[in-house]
Amino acid sequence: MNPHFLTLWVCRTFCALFQRGARLIAAVLCSVLVQGVAQASDYRVELSYAVDQSRKLTLAEVQALPASAWKDESTRHLSLGYTDAAVWFRVRVTSLARVPQEGMLEITYPVLSDIRAYRSAPAPVSTDEPIYLGSHLPFEQRLVLNRNFVLPFLSLAGERSEWLVRVVTPTSMQFPVVVRNRDKFERNEQAASTAHGIYLGVVLAMLAYNLYLWVASREGVYFWYVGWMLAIAGLVLTMAGVSYQWAWPDSPEWNLASMPFFLSLSAFSGVMFYSALSRIRTHWPRGWQVSRGLAALQIAAITVALVAPYQVAILVGIGSAIFTMTGVVSMAAWMSHRQVAAATSFLKTFMVFVLGGLALAGTKLGWLAASPWLNHAPQASSALAMLLFSVMLAARADAERKLRERTQQELLTQHERWHAELESKVAVRTDELKRLNQTLAKLSRTDALTGLFNRRYLEECVEAELTRCAQEHLLMAVFMLDIDHFKRLNDTYGHAAGDECLRTVAQRLLACTRPTEDVLVRWGGEEFCLVALVTEAAAAAALGERLRASVCAEPVLCDDVQITVTASVGVAVGVPKTRLDVFDLQLRADESLYAAKATGRNRCVLAPQPSAY
Ligand code: GH3
Ligand code: MG
Ligand code: MG
Repeated sequence: MNPHFLTLWVCRTFCALFQRGARLIAAVLCSVLVQGVAQASDYRVELSYAVDQSRKLTLAEVQALPASAWKDESTRHLSLGYTDAAVWFRVRVTSLARVPQEGMLEITYPVLSDIRAYRSAPAPVSTDEPIYLGSHLPFEQRLVLNRNFVLPFLSLAGERSEWLVRVVTPTSMQFPVVVRNRDKFERNEQAASTAHGIYLGVVLAMLAYNLYLWVASREGVYFWYVGWMLAIAGLVLTMAGVSYQWAWPDSPEWNLASMPFFLSLSAFSGVMFYSALSRIRTHWPRGWQVSRGLAALQIAAITVALVAPYQVAILVGIGSAIFTMTGVVSMAAWMSHRQVAAATSFLKTFMVFVLGGLALAGTKLGWLAASPWLNHAPQASSALAMLLFSVMLAARADAERKLRERTQQELLTQHERWHAELESKVAVRTDELKRLNQTLAKLSRTDALTGLFNRRYLEECVEAELTRCAQEHLLMAVFMLDIDHFKRLNDTYGHAAGDECLRTVAQRLLACTRPTEDVLVRWGGEEFCLVALVTEAAAAAALGERLRASVCAEPVLCDDVQITVTASVGVAVGVPKTRLDVFDLQLRADESLYAAKATGRNRCVLAPQPSAY
């Protein structure tokens, strides 16, 4: 299937859902808060704790502690940070039911390491042998096979039960306790399983979709997005105890190390994702170098997570992740300020993560009352963010596709315009060339000095004249005309005056001819040739005489000097059939010209008719 089609479809569907979804989310958030505040309970729980720095106190010694050694804790989400000490928690649970009921005490922080629980009331249930819980045990050894630590108990109406729970853990010392009767516990389990199922479903669907886009497009942004989702899902599911229950139930060491590992991996792939998404390398090269630095920092943190003890690894992980993500958000803010659209959408979507984190922190710090909804804030916010990021990627791919199409269309239009322009230019050039060729052809047939045609033109006309001659049953008369003593004229008046005489003679001869029928050319030097079709030899002789007379009709005026010009004319008449015949006519006319010269010049001589005619 075409990935762009799929992208477009997903994008449109998500965008439509998103608009409705935004209102839905607001409504759900309100109900979450209300639920959290108004959660009813069947038990009253009192929680207090005592710190054993030496970690050597026995149960009896703890029981013998004075009341002042115990600190009461009003919140049920006690958090004491990182400590090497053993902390004893005293949980007093009073049943508020009117009948005996089966209860479940649940410690909802599934990464605590070493937990030993002693039931100290009602007497005489208490024993020195503890119930071992904690994530340092293989999962199968738990009393109740649940992702959290669960202590089942029975209590009579109004009866008070008490536990002393000793915790030693490299993780942060948190002790969130929830006590419910079995019914509510199971209902909550179902809701939690469904929530985790939905979460996994969303993650897997987004993974598959973006993996497909990555395979189809080979764009790094999808690869890093998949990596980011995997790391975040890994972290969220490990913190919720789900990974330990289902993925690696026999590897408590890895379960512990996996948290800083996934944390640093998610910060690393987050930087890479943002870099690819915002095309930081092109938009902001210096920012790109910073993001390389942050990525390198996270690779170091990942290495630390895999080799260092948990307490070092988690501090390095949290510190570097906060530093890196602050860096990423700052870069995104800066690029958003510089109108990079991808950075703006990244920022908006990233806020969903931040909201999820705030909700989690809110419950841990006691600002928000715990509720089944808020307990799943990390899952909900990361799933929502994953969806939104997918929508964003799809919208981005769609926008890029449209841009590509528009660019292609523009290129095509431009190409067509260029093509048309080129064609019109070629047409203009061809036209110019044609005119130039015509001018050239005319020039090659024209005598520059007199403006008459030249000898070559006469040769071109021969065929047409032959045809006309045959068709119209006319005689062809060839006149050869030579100016008399022209050399002397040149010598006397100068070459310029000679040229002027040539031009004047040409005009006078032209005036004696029929413009469309006769062909008058400058034969060369001071000689002219006329080809005219006539009805009889006498008409040719008369024309020859007219030509001669026109030349000497009046003197040529040149620089106030009157120059007398005369010319001799030789005429030959015949009915030529071929070019050779025409050539023969010319020879005969030339001979007559010589005869005219020889007999005194300034005269016209008609060649005798050969017997063949
Ligand atoms: P004839 O009466 O026997 O024809 O004597 P002629 O001097 O006219 O004949 P000739 O052939 O000896 O001389 C022709 C001269 O025409 C020689 C040349 O200098 C001159 N001539 C040829 N072409 C041109 C031209 O274009 N301009 C000028 N001014 N003179 C030309
Ligand atoms: Mg001559
Ligand atoms: Mg001459």
